[in-house]
Amino acid sequence: MLILIPQSAAAIMRSSGPWGRLSLRINHPERFAVVRGLSERGDGIFPVEPPPEHRLLGSYPPVSTGWWCRVHADLHLMWLALSARRGMLMKLDAFKAAVPNGYKAPGDPGYWAITHAPGLKDAYPEHNLPDLVAWHVTREGAQPISVSVEPEATGICQLKDHWPVHELQNTRIMLIGAGSIGSATAHALAGYGIGHLTLVDPDRLDWHNLVRHTSARRHIGRSKVTALAEDLAALRPDTTVTPWALDVIEHADQIRALLADTHLVVCTADGVAPRRVTGHLARRAGLTAVLACVLQDGALGEILRLRPWPQHGCLTCRRQSLAQAGGLDPEPALDAGYGTGTRHRPMTAVGSDLHLVAQLAAKTAVATILERAGHPDQRLPGEHALLGLRRQPDWAPPFDLGHTAELRWLPATPPISGCPTCEAP
Ligand SMILES: [Zn+2]
Repeated sequence: MLILIPQSAAAIMRSSGPWGRLSLRINHPERFAVVRGLSERGDGIFPVEPPPEHRLLGSYPPVSTGWWCRVHADLHLMWLALSARRGMLMKLDAFKAAVPNGYKAPGDPGYWAITHAPGLKDAYPEHNLPDLVAWHVTREGAQPISVSVEPEATGICQLKDHWPVHELQNTRIMLIGAGSIGSATAHALAGYGIGHLTLVDPDRLDWHNLVRHTSARRHIGRSKVTALAEDLAALRPDTTVTPWALDVIEHADQIRALLADTHLVVCTADGVAPRRVTGHLARRAGLTAVLACVLQDGALGEILRLRPWPQHGCLTCRRQSLAQAGGLDPEPALDAGYGTGTRHRPMTAVGSDLHLVAQLAAKTAVATILERAGHPDQRLPGEHALLGLRRQPDWAPPFDLGHTAELRWLPATPPISGCPTCEAP
């Protein structure tokens, strides 16, 4: 058995006392319970629960089923000793003697008790004993029960000594495309601690998306950005998500306005036109755009980092430079969606390969922000990454990756004269 103690409940037991009643929600099959309310002495029980969306075991009825009380540190030392030996009980008389206030004689089938022992660090500095522990008290005796107290922080701020949480929490990224790659990119960006995500995608989640998307079946029919915003709110509450069911081409004016409040743009939309428009809008706004896609029916992942810098060409110029150097322009093949495919070009990309590309896209975006914020250890080896998802040695350079999971970084190419995106209007 495990009893979870929310922070608010722990705070009351630590600051008031010396005893009170306890109400739990109990999941018997999985053998754990959550403190949902408590009282001070014999007063009425008041709830200590978070809002419904964060409530643990919310569908289980609360039962008034025990007591909490303040005890001497020695009882917790006993708890530790008994816990180490499975099935050991403390004699009821001994337990009663150790509970100076609020001891209750157990009936059938017994009750749960949480004990709070203040001053443990002073009494037993060498033992690192928990100040809150639990017991199952029956006529046979008191059995030690494990507890887990909700820590003060469960979010990204826990990593602040090892990761630049502050910079990233103050960063706003726009993600255009909330499909297979986009949904995984959003999760990855939130996992890095990006403080604000603006999601842009006009599509709804459909049955055929399920096999590659991060959102579950219960979201079918909803817009992908709304579903994703809800998933992220539950999983990564440190990231604020603003969903926009907009099309980057049709609603370019609205996107342009939103870019004024954005630090970097990531585009995971499939299709040539949305990628070009994203690159164009970002460059005009003076922002770096990171474009992610898979090429050749999912054989190759590609990340392009488009900087708004004079010596760096836009997407069209990069592709044109490639063609001039004798390479292929893979861009036109992107017009078939990953999720749909066509009869003559069946889609073979598997969800996790797309998510691997998404991770690299998120890493590229975050590294770009951090390098600019004064973290030279986040510098990337180039501006154009190719990731082998299936061996593809027969492709023209630079797409001729010889191995699965091979990662090749290339530099940027300069703008081509007369380009309407690269040359200032
Ligand atoms: Zn250009």
